[in-house]
Amino acid sequence: MATTIEVTPEEILNERQDEIPSSPAVHEDNSDDDDIRSFNSAVEVPEDDVEAITRLPSPEPPKPEENVGLLRSRLRNCLHNFETVCEDVDFSSMAHHAVESAEDFFRRVWEGTWRVVHFQHLPAWLQDNDFLHHAHRPPLPSFSACFKSIFRVHTETGNIWTHLLGCLAFMGIATYFLSRPNIEVELQEKLVFAAFFAGAIICLGMSFAFHTVSCHSEFVGRLFSKLDYCGIAFLIMGSFVPWLYYGFYCEFLPKVIYLSVTTILGTCAITVSLWDKFGTPRYRPLRAGVFMGFGLSGVVPAMHYLYSEGWLKAASEAAMGSLILMAVLYISGALLYAWRVPERFFPGKCDIWFHSHQLFHILVIAAAFVHYHGISEMAMYRLTTGDCAVDDPRIVL
Ligand SMILES: [Zn+2]
Repeated sequence: MATTIEVTPEEILNERQDEIPSSPAVHEDNSDDDDIRSFNSAVEVPEDDVEAITRLPSPEPPKPEENVGLLRSRLRNCLHNFETVCEDVDFSSMAHHAVESAEDFFRRVWEGTWRVVHFQHLPAWLQDNDFLHHAHRPPLPSFSACFKSIFRVHTETGNIWTHLLGCLAFMGIATYFLSRPNIEVELQEKLVFAAFFAGAIICLGMSFAFHTVSCHSEFVGRLFSKLDYCGIAFLIMGSFVPWLYYGFYCEFLPKVIYLSVTTILGTCAITVSLWDKFGTPRYRPLRAGVFMGFGLSGVVPAMHYLYSEGWLKAASEAAMGSLILMAVLYISGALLYAWRVPERFFPGKCDIWFHSHQLFHILVIAAAFVHYHGISEMAMYRLTTGDCAVDDPRIVL
């Protein structure tokens, strides 16, 4: 079979060289590929005709200036293609997205792999109790990591769960009590009990939140510690309301005075709690003193009641036994907290269970339940006794 050669390689190269000056900036796309394709189509060589191949005139090597022109042409094409791609793709957003993805990946890996640390390895803002040596959470600058940490074992695990469960328990009791029909529990009784439930739920809820996110960052830790202390003030205020309401049920003036004093003292305690340095380890005794003093201010109306009604009535009608037990529980908890007992005597041995803060939490919950029992008894007594006597000179609220 005959071999047909329509165009020689030299001619193609010459043609290409002629095209370069006429298209200074941009060549047609794939012009080189077109050339090669046209060359291949022009050279028809049967596979079995080896001689035909040998008869082909071997192309002379391109001259240096031809090489330069060819390279220049290809370079222009490459640059043009690259510019086109750059226009279509937003590299800055791609880079930003890649960095975010990498950060997210490492954050997820780290959140799942953090380890508890020794007290000495904590930053200064997380160093609170140096009698607890091991098992401290490191800073976890992510709320999701903080909330996931409640399922890990560390120095705060007990603090978190005691008040989380206590908060849920009071939410359940409050829902049940306040949803009773008004014929069963009057609206006024519901409001009085609601003050106590609100105080307990706020206190335990704030405490749970604080102990959960205290390791997030210095700012978040300080903010939630203030809310935690405010919660204690709310619990004390809320606890006073039903006792004063039922204790001085038929005495308007003392009731109003004591409730007003309670409100003022509670406001003072909240104001002090919002002071920046109040939450620092140095002021631990002051904190215990403020809340113990606020709680013990209840001694005044209790003594008033004892003086005017006597021990017998105080024990049966004013649930004085429950009141005293509640006070003992609160004071014991506050003293353990202030003196950091028992870890003071067993440094490093109470890191996870039974350290002072955990015992304080348990005693607070116990005291709150004892108080709930006490005010329920007072309410039952009032329910069975009925309203104040008509000829009673004292005014009923
Ligand atoms: Zn606490």
